[in-house]
Amino acid sequence: MDFGLDEEHRMIRQSVRKFCERELVPIAQEIDRESRFPMEVYKKAGQEGFIGALISPRYGGGGSDLLSFYIIKEEFCRAAGGFGQSVCVCALNFCYFISKLGTERQKKKYIPPVLRGEKIASYCLTEPNAGSDTRNIETRALRRGDHFVLNGNKTLITSAPIADYFIIVTRTSEERSFRGGTNFLLERGTEGLSTGEPFEKLGMRCSPMGEVFLDDVVAVREQMIGTEGEGLFEMLNILDVERALAAATATGIAQACLDASITYARDRVQFGRSIGNFQLIQEKLAEMDLNLELARTYAHKVIWLCEKGMKTTREAAMAKLFASQIATKSASDAVQIHGGYGCIQEFPVERYFRDAKLCEIGGGTSEIQKLVIARELTRAR
Ligand SMILES: Cc1cc2nc3c(=O)[nH]c(=O)nc-3n(C[C@H](O)[C@H](O)[C@H](O)COP(=O)(O)OP(=O)(O)OC[C@H]3O[C@@H](n4cnc5c(N)ncnc54)[C@H](O)[C@@H]3O)c2cc1C
Repeated sequence: MDFGLDEEHRMIRQSVRKFCERELVPIAQEIDRESRFPMEVYKKAGQEGFIGALISPRYGGGGSDLLSFYIIKEEFCRAAGGFGQSVCVCALNFCYFISKLGTERQKKKYIPPVLRGEKIASYCLTEPNAGSDTRNIETRALRRGDHFVLNGNKTLITSAPIADYFIIVTRTSEERSFRGGTNFLLERGTEGLSTGEPFEKLGMRCSPMGEVFLDDVVAVREQMIGTEGEGLFEMLNILDVERALAAATATGIAQACLDASITYARDRVQFGRSIGNFQLIQEKLAEMDLNLELARTYAHKVIWLCEKGMKTTREAAMAKLFASQIATKSASDAVQIHGGYGCIQEFPVERYFRDAKLCEIGGGTSEIQKLVIARELTRAR
């Protein structure tokens, strides 16, 4: 059993960290303040091969493993949580999803421009009346001869205001169950498809989020991804990987909190000593470090299980839940260690605090992760 990163993974971490320190960290505060997605950094990330690490070289990717992408995402989120969030939707929810379920034509047409950092993609499941309860989606795709007509609204969609491509989860049957879901791939510019203004949101502000409106959108059979009626099951099939990788967002933010807190605890002097000498501050640092180690080590284990093709529903939910919870706790402690300076934008912990909270909601809330764990525990065997 080997708990360390091998040479290849260490090199990936080193190169993505250098990239972030050069390209992302210097603008992280500014893009948060301006709520701006840094397209110029996204393009460079594509050229460096970071977006496509997970995808086969056949479609322009690097053919690396899930752990490589975990490391890349964690480093992006350590620098700017929203950047890692938007990149992950492009790489995982769009490219990885299509690479598993798309036709050869779809893979060749849609994956390479995203991996090169030229196109932005979105994955549109959530609706005004269907958040945690995904079975309740109301967006319809009605068959009309050889094509489908789509109507409905999607909301809280990462990158919707700037996306070029949209995977839309629809319902093609009357049933209100997991059966009857069908995925379609639409491009911006399609008649009847429009997006709203970006929401002004709490955290991850450089990742624009918004609504997608579908008003009599015509889609042909070739725009369907996967199998008609199986769309929600297909989404569930990549959900374990998505949740294991969601932990990377949280551990990235928790790492940034710890780094900033160590520096501040060393530098800030009160009562004639660095505040890092006070045991109540030391306790916070020790707990942040401990929780981060546990969250990351466990997430790596789950990634390893996913890589082996094992069923990881309970484990992935635990990885996401624990990492998200410790990220919000670490961010709160980081602000506390910074005192009043933790509450102003001059110090990045104010941003980490806002970013961390979103980890407990996006990709399934903490409550839902607990339900998933309990359901798996009590499932008849
Ligand atoms: C940063 C971020 C990015 C996102 N990106 C995307 C995206 O790209 N694509 C997309 O489709 N969606 C996206 N979402 C939406 C996200 O998936 C939903 O917000 C999430 O699934 C919760 O749904 P909801 O907001 O409607 O909350 P609700 O489902 O209405 O939940 C409200 C509260 O009730 C609780 N609750 C609900 N059901 C239960 C239950 N059975 N038992 C106990 N408590 C319950 C929840 O835990 C929560 O606390 C994103 C959200 C965030 C925050």
